[in-house]
Amino acid sequence: MVKKILKKKIYGGIEGGGTKFRCVIGSDPDNIYASSEIDTKTPILTIKELINFFSEKQSEIPQTLKIGIGCFGPLDLDPQSKTYGYVKETPKPGWKNFDIRGELERALKIPVVIDTDVNAAAIGELIWGAGRELQNFLYATIGTGIGVGAVINKRIFYAQHHPEMGHMFIPLNPGERETFTGCCPYHGSCIEGLASGSAITKRWGSQLSVLQKDHPAWRLEAEYLATFFANLTFAFQPQKIIVGGGVMNNYLLSLTKEILSQKIADYSNTNSDNYLVHPQLGNKSGVMGAVALARNL
Ligand code: ZN
Repeated sequence: MVKKILKKKIYGGIEGGGTKFRCVIGSDPDNIYASSEIDTKTPILTIKELINFFSEKQSEIPQTLKIGIGCFGPLDLDPQSKTYGYVKETPKPGWKNFDIRGELERALKIPVVIDTDVNAAAIGELIWGAGRELQNFLYATIGTGIGVGAVINKRIFYAQHHPEMGHMFIPLNPGERETFTGCCPYHGSCIEGLASGSAITKRWGSQLSVLQKDHPAWRLEAEYLATFFANLTFAFQPQKIIVGGGVMNNYLLSLTKEILSQKIADYSNTNSDNYLVHPQLGNKSGVMGAVALARNL
């Protein structure tokens, strides 16, 4: 196996998430030499563990040419900026204004490229997953936070800054007007403040997956997500919305589909079973997309 891989060029991929960092060394989903998962701690501790992983493996396979990172944001992605590759205004303790790209590049002495976690996941799905045959699609993650990457004409959509669709404002459910103010430290009840894993835990005191299927948490979550996906559908008219992240399971996906199609009311073609789908790479879309970033695919 290792011999076969060594014929290919080898890259590193990192997906930086709110609860864990995934890393791989390889060329594509079928050629992975090593992988690891690291809990997200303070930047210093997390970086130390990432450096340990890559330096250890680098001594075994010296050809690791470049590393890609898909990281939670907001990020400075302007290569001309003095703070290129920094994590910006995040509520995550210690991470604000942290030079994650530069720290890794200096420690490992390998070029490091960076993009957002959702853009990396969208790239992973575009090259190897559910977006392969598509021109236009969205990749949304519903996890600790909420984020969306947009692929338009097979390219990631950027403007002045990477999009921040996870902070879109959504009408508060009438039943929640007096009882829940959301959990986004910047906007309160944006979609991340209302429907992320953190919002669910704040509202119900537990994760969604452990609640009974008849618990009102499921329908409320599906309502919020369906409104969010309806807005995204009207804005982008994508061929598909690929939905990953730890909160999204089969049951929630089917509930959300049902409500989405009622909300859209035949205004757009979202009825197909193939419109709202799970990522084909499972929880590897982000880390494999980071490898693709490094490969400059
Ligand atoms: Zn927000």
